[in-house]
Amino acid sequence: MSREERIKAPRGTFDVLGEQAGVRSILEGRARSILEGAGYERIETPVLEATELFARGVGSSTDIVQKEMFSLDDGGGRSLTLRPEGTAPICRAYVEHGMHKRKQPVKLWYLSSFFRHERAQAGRYRQFWQVGAEALGSEDPAVDAESIVLLSALLEEMGVRGVRLRLSSLGSGESRSEYRERLQVYLRAHEASLSEEVRGRIELNPLRAFDSDHEGTKRIMENAPRLLDFLSLEDAEHFAQVRDLLEVAKVPYEVDQTLVRGLDYYTRTVFEFTSDALGAQSGVGGGGRYDGLVEKIKSPATPPTFGTMIKSPPTPGMGWAAGIERILLAGDPPPVAVSPIDLFVALDTPGTSSRRAAFGLLAEARSAGLTAQMELAGRSLKGQLGYANVLGARYVAIVGKDETGLKDMQGGGQERLATDTVIHAVLRGLRTL
Ligand code: ATP
Ligand code: MG
Repeated sequence: MSREERIKAPRGTFDVLGEQAGVRSILEGRARSILEGAGYERIETPVLEATELFARGVGSSTDIVQKEMFSLDDGGGRSLTLRPEGTAPICRAYVEHGMHKRKQPVKLWYLSSFFRHERAQAGRYRQFWQVGAEALGSEDPAVDAESIVLLSALLEEMGVRGVRLRLSSLGSGESRSEYRERLQVYLRAHEASLSEEVRGRIELNPLRAFDSDHEGTKRIMENAPRLLDFLSLEDAEHFAQVRDLLEVAKVPYEVDQTLVRGLDYYTRTVFEFTSDALGAQSGVGGGGRYDGLVEKIKSPATPPTFGTMIKSPPTPGMGWAAGIERILLAGDPPPVAVSPIDLFVALDTPGTSSRRAAFGLLAEARSAGLTAQMELAGRSLKGQLGYANVLGARYVAIVGKDETGLKDMQGGGQERLATDTVIHAVLRGLRTL
């Protein structure tokens, strides 16, 4: 096959090989122990969801919904989308499985792959992995603080360098709408200096103007009204509590009033961890509180018939997601330990009868709880011993026609044994280590 015809992984996707797979297992293990230790339960949701879930849940003015979704027709005229994020699917699952009946908050975590149609570059892919945590059903500021502290602990354990935590509050309800209107008035007054993208979003999502890289927009935003000045008493108090609890937990942060997250659903607390080891794609992970999201997902955009809607109290929520690839790029993960094996089963002479005897010995070894491998590639005896060495085998059994030679790769000795006593001898040898 010529070079041009060779099939490669699609742009923005990659294979996870060897040591990389090992480092990822370490990350997964650390995430599991930190999050499950704090009462978060693992959840898996489907890769495909109804497109409507993200349109409603993530918000139609966001980059994700406007240009990053991989959507397809299910063959029956319904649009499905490869999940671009994890929060909306978890809220769907919370509603679908009546989790409001459980003890609140319901705390869930995930580690899965996500899909966004982005321009691929270092730290930005079309299929990437996120670890995330969501706590639904409580608006206690301790939920916010605990959630942030857990991500901070994970980044620390993975050795992520140059970490900064930026924190803000987006407020909620009326104070938020009042601020939004004030910002819109301000943006319209300075429309001529704004980027086209920001101008196009004044109606739908004026807050995103703070996120712009456009020089003119950045200058205008320096004097824009600030959200924290508009917080209601309750929201200001909630934010003060979150900050205080972070101080109690000794997690340093900076309040950044220009912090807006790319998703529409946030209320009150928002935060982002960045790393200066990452260059342009500096976001490692972030999230916030989304007190209206479950309601949005539960009820259709237009109520069916007046009076049939059941009014239930909104379900508050708080969560985050962090990019696995970016944690590994900016981190200094603990080295992957190569695990040596107890026994390598070698063949004295190639052929069917030795292979049968060797295979039997391999099965017996594994039933006895040993880690074992056998020769699978027809190597010479010398080649097999070399390979056993690479595997770090403690013992090598050289299976012959009538008996087996058992070689101690550490002690250096070799004894000849009846094949059916080999496992016993290995177990005895390992016990005397
Ligand atoms: P960015 O500003 O870099 O586009 P985002 O705001 O879109 O990030 P979130 O939706 O908050 O990111 O996702 C949480 C984390 O997931 C990010 O901080 C980042 O580490 C990671 N992430 C997001 N998109 C990608 C991607 N395309 N490739 C790799 N990691 C990603
Ligand atoms: Mg993005």
